[in-house]
Order: sequence, then structure tokens, then C-alpha cells
Amino acid sequence: MLPYQTLEEAAAAMGRNLTYAETLWFNYSADKSDYFLYCHNTILLFFIYSVVPLPMVFLELARVDRYKIQPKARMSVPEIFRSYRDTMLNIGIRTGLPLPSVWEVLAQLVVYFIVEDYTNYWIHRFLHTKWGYEKIHRVHHEYTAPVGFTALYAHWAEIWVLGFPSIFGPAIAPGHMITYWLWMALRHIESIENHSGYDFPWNPTKYIPFYGGADYHDYHHYVGQHSKSNFSPVFTYCDYIYGTDKGYRVQKRLFQKMKDEMKTGGDQNGGSYHNSTQDLKSD
Ligand SMILES: [Zn+2]
Ligand SMILES: [Zn+2]
Repeated sequence: MLPYQTLEEAAAAMGRNLTYAETLWFNYSADKSDYFLYCHNTILLFFIYSVVPLPMVFLELARVDRYKIQPKARMSVPEIFRSYRDTMLNIGIRTGLPLPSVWEVLAQLVVYFIVEDYTNYWIHRFLHTKWGYEKIHRVHHEYTAPVGFTALYAHWAEIWVLGFPSIFGPAIAPGHMITYWLWMALRHIESIENHSGYDFPWNPTKYIPFYGGADYHDYHHYVGQHSKSNFSPVFTYCDYIYGTDKGYRVQKRLFQKMKDEMKTGGDQNGGSYHNSTQDLKSD
């Protein structure tokens, strides 16, 4: 969506008249959201895959073999139509009956979460290198105290790259479309909860072994660019095994100590809370 209401306003902001192409673009995109414009990719690709192969298909049907690489390989009209249908309609995920059992779904979801967590851990560590952070990951870290809506707030390249860990699991252990929907829903709900900014003691996720949760990821955002802690998106064991949770654990101990002191010593520790957390920002 363009931040101008009229062509005149856009021209004034740019300090010159718009070109013909820019005028066309303004007229088309000015009142459409960025997300809607992005969704054009799907329609564009559908159109390209439907139209671009057509000239060669006509040559195939007309038996014009002069430039054909494998002249003996012939396809009939039904075979060509089937290849188009298989490409455009079949995405390789099972949709038929019988539906998977609850145990099959649960087992696959566990695999998907473990694969996602491990792969995402290393990509996230790469994004905290100097190049990765400055070029890509700093966008996601603009929010040092995130809220649920910021779960997907990131550079487009980060969203693209972090899509791969989400499909590795289904690629390794293919499931039904229902399982895939459930996986995508749970994965995003988990990410929204991680960025919610609230740590509820009655949250059912507290009963999942090695689960990080909002408190765990919130610390990563709180420290920001120089964070060397809490790279895992879901569980805590990768950070523990590779030694990247030290700052977080020190902070947890400090917070617990301060809570205990506040319980027993009244308000005498009121000033130390802020100072201690600030020190850990340089972790
Ligand atoms: Zn980060
Ligand atoms: Zn985050």
C-alpha cells in the first residue's frame, strides 16, 4: 500500500512527475494492502505454469521434431492433460480415507516439532552472526518486548528461510492433510505464545518436557542483538547441550534470588532488580 492518497501527493513526495509505469503502478496498488499484492504471486505462478509450456505442447501435438531433444518420446493429448493436472492439483500430501489414527498424528507431530526445533536452532544462530543480524535478523529484534502479533514480524528473507524447518518434518514423515493443517496451526500458535510477553503459571505447555515457552524466548528478545542465549524456538535442550542458555540461567537464578529477598526483606531490594537485568543485557 502506498503512503500517498493522490498522484499529485506522490509526485510532490518524489520531487518529480511519475513515469508512465509508476502511474500505472500507483493506480493499481495504491489502495491494496502489501499482503494482497504479495498473494498475487500464487495467481502469477498458476498463470505462468499454465501458459508458458503451451507453445511447446502445440509443437509436440503437431509433430514438429526439428528441435525436439528426444524426438522418439511422444505424448498424447490425454497424457499431456494428465501431466498438467498432476502438476497443478497434486501437491503430494495425502488427502483421502482412511483418516490417520490419533497415535499416528501425535507421533508425526512430535517428529515435526523436534526437526523444526533442531533446524531452526542452527538457522537462528547463523542469523545472529554479524552479517545475518545486520542484513536480516535485526528486523525481528526491533521488538525487545514482543507481543503475539510480532511472531511473524521479520525480514522477508527470514520468513522464507524459516519456512524450510517447517516442511522438513512432513518431508521426512509424510502425513495426512489433516495432520499438516494441525502442524501448521500448532507451530504458529506456539510461536505466537512465545512472543506473547506473558508467562502464565497455569499454561498447559508447562507440562511438556523441555518446553521453552514465552519466558524463554522473551529473554532472547530482551537481550537483543548481542544475545548468545535461547536460540531454540520450541524446546530447551539444544541450548543446554550447546551451551547457549547460560545468560538465561544466570538471569533466572538472579530473579529467583530477588523474589526470595523481596519476600523476606520487604522493599530494601527494590533498586537492585533493574540494575541486575541491565547487566545481563551485555551477555
Ligand atoms: Zn534472534
Ligand atoms: Zn522472536
